[in-house]
Amino acid sequence: MTDLSELPLRDNLVGKRPYGAPQDPVPVSLNVNENTHPIPDGVAADIVAELERAVRGVNRYPDREFLALREALAGYLGHGLAADQLWAANGSNEVLQQILQAFGGPGRTLLSFTPTYSMYPLLASGTDTGWTPVERPEGYALTSEFVAAALREHRPDIAILCGPNNPTGTPLDREVVVAAYDAFDGMLIVDEAYHEFDAERESAVSLLPGRPRLLVSRTMSKAFAFAGVRLGYLAADPAVIDALRLVRLPYHLSALTQAAATAAIRHSAEMLATVADIRDQRDRLADALEGLGYRVHPSGANFLLVGGFADPTATFEALRAQGILIRDLGIEGHLRLTAGTEEETTTLIEAIAALGPGGARG
Ligand SMILES: *Cc1c(COP(=O)(O)O)cnc(C)c1O
Repeated sequence: MTDLSELPLRDNLVGKRPYGAPQDPVPVSLNVNENTHPIPDGVAADIVAELERAVRGVNRYPDREFLALREALAGYLGHGLAADQLWAANGSNEVLQQILQAFGGPGRTLLSFTPTYSMYPLLASGTDTGWTPVERPEGYALTSEFVAAALREHRPDIAILCGPNNPTGTPLDREVVVAAYDAFDGMLIVDEAYHEFDAERESAVSLLPGRPRLLVSRTMSKAFAFAGVRLGYLAADPAVIDALRLVRLPYHLSALTQAAATAAIRHSAEMLATVADIRDQRDRLADALEGLGYRVHPSGANFLLVGGFADPTATFEALRAQGILIRDLGIEGHLRLTAGTEEETTTLIEAIAALGPGGARG
């Protein structure tokens, strides 16, 4: 067998590590921000019926423009959007990759505010786009002045604002999006993967009219409890959608994916019924951890970034040994915990409490 270092790999991929959150089959898996509730039985039955219909047509290629799905997504987002302003791919990661393929590439740059989603730099290197990380201020919240100054200084071709931000949970104010858009002339992506957990805050979708360089990405992987299907989507000006058509692979969304996602969106209210409970569990987890002396960062998502661990890696391993998987992102003193069901959250709180102050017995 050949070693990777002996292959003529592209220079900008040398030394890179693949995305690799552990996928242990543990009883309490709270490390990749999934919705841990199963989808309702009635919805599952309707999806199966749609899949059955789709299977009988798989001798043919699927609808390359997935129009029924785009219409369903436009209806779900509201704000008067039409199907020609919607796009989708196999997870919002693929949508982001297509945006970088179309608007990034050699000699161009992507800027974001760190700590943020670990896939952004990987997608940049995969498309040979330069990566410009700008560290967030203390407490992680972005202000209009801070963001505008960074964009004026660096003038990136593409910028991503993640709101609520992964892994910090920090909500994103709409004034910050407006200020960012006005501060540079590149493409501005707002990654709203966790928007449904923070739905009192108006989505950046409402800012689309008159802003042709604004792109709002969403996913069915988190609140929608549909991570296994792989469906992410984007709302933007129809011209942006035309640009993405230049780089997408033909028939990139399978007939089965289109059928499952279209059926699920028909049941969006039932699919999102667990959001209120997940937010309650997140708040209960926050109160419990603050009571144990940890620092919990404000979160608008289904997870918490928590500081005050004496040795985060040791705590991560101690919990993993008990069948509880959380996330160690290499942020000093911190771990990221997803809010699960009531039972999972109780198990997590009790296990952390049992480790003693600072998770020290980790
Ligand atoms: C989970 C996540 C995504 C979604 O990924 P999919 O490819 O849609 O599963 C996108 N952005 C952020 C910030 C995320 O945390």
